[in-house]
Amino acid sequence: MGDLHIVEQKESYLEKYYNLGFKTGDLILPGLNMEVNLPSNRFFKNLGEVSEINVSSITLLKPLNCQYSLTEDKGLNGKHLGIGDYINQKEVLKASLIMYLSSNPTLTKFLQAHESMHAIRFLGLEEPFMRFAYMQNFHLNPFEKYSSEEDIANYAGLMAVLISDPKNINQVLSSKFIPLFLDLENSKNRVIYK
Ligand SMILES: [Zn+2]
Repeated sequence: MGDLHIVEQKESYLEKYYNLGFKTGDLILPGLNMEVNLPSNRFFKNLGEVSEINVSSITLLKPLNCQYSLTEDKGLNGKHLGIGDYINQKEVLKASLIMYLSSNPTLTKFLQAHESMHAIRFLGLEEPFMRFAYMQNFHLNPFEKYSSEEDIANYAGLMAVLISDPKNINQVLSSKFIPLFLDLENSKNRVIYK
């Protein structure tokens, strides 16, 4: 197989993702409403509200023949699928697919941001997230502060509600989220010296 063949194969892989509604380039991550610019081999799709969160029911995955890793959120009705596609064991692209099941708009916002954070991690968008958070006056680096991926995702969920729906923060503020909430509040107007 020559290089030309690989290039053609790679292009057909990318096209397959476009055709299934995955987005690349400029897009907005839901929940946080954070603008990102994805390179051409990185994709994102928000499957949105689903009636049942069951990976085997995602017909979208069948034509892809891809490998995926699943972040299944226990106790939260959300999922993130990190998809990798390969040619000759070499990674050609990465794609994030998120979905959730929610009963009210504030919880939807929280879940969207939580799952978007899993996508941020999978697609390597930590730096754009930090710029976004600083613009919103949150001066804390959650990637350094927390060792647990779920804490980082819950931090993003709470941040999204504090940004756009703060009066309803109590709807998503269970006791285990209080430390994250206090970290967010204490990070406001702080300047970090490294
Ligand atoms: Zn999670």
